[in-house]
Amino acid sequence: MTPTAIAPLGPTVGVLALQGAFAAHLSILRDLGVESVAVKTTEQLASIDALVIPGGESTTMSMLLVKGGMLEPLRARVDAGMPVFGTCAGMILCSSEILDGRDDQHCLGAIPLVSRRNGYGRQIDSFEADFAIEGFDTPFHGVFIRAPIVDSVGDDVVVLAEVEGQPVLCQHGPVTVASFHPELSGDARLHRRWLADAGLLPSAAEGSPATASQGVPS
Ligand code: GLN
Repeated sequence: MTPTAIAPLGPTVGVLALQGAFAAHLSILRDLGVESVAVKTTEQLASIDALVIPGGESTTMSMLLVKGGMLEPLRARVDAGMPVFGTCAGMILCSSEILDGRDDQHCLGAIPLVSRRNGYGRQIDSFEADFAIEGFDTPFHGVFIRAPIVDSVGDDVVVLAEVEGQPVLCQHGPVTVASFHPELSGDARLHRRWLADAGLLPSAAEGSPATASQGVPS
């Protein structure tokens, strides 16, 4: 019998792969059993149901989005309500306003939130912290690398976690942003929760300290 191509049954989740820490996100999504794809072109962008924007360098990602003609198509998908998970530089890109950015860098306005690039300053520009996340039974280990600070959020943004009084994880409908790198902690709870909140995974047992390799609970 000739094998025929089978269309994926579930959603396809893209990870913007122009630059930065996209590989670890792809592997977490695969471990969760989610169809995932590295997104480098407008064609790939058109084929996905949700997008992770990874950490890296927001100015470079912005410049590459413009260069590749992807900025406006991405903005259109975001405006149409595509679920997005922005982490670190990805949070900066998702913001409605960037402080201390480059004059020519763009943001998507996916969430009413103002980010300040490299807001934790030079002396502590990388650190790790364990903190509580609303709805999780145990702390999350966050890795902050030249992280942005959440300067302010709109009224309808839900702050899900804070470190030293500063929001580090925020949600606005299907858009979640983290000022840290959740893909570097061997903990898939945030990816799973974002997908579940966006209706792309069965509602998750987020309270359990699951690792990526444990997969989606049945
Ligand atoms: N400081 C970087 C920027 O401005 C973000 C750092 C990161 O993503 N780890 O984009």
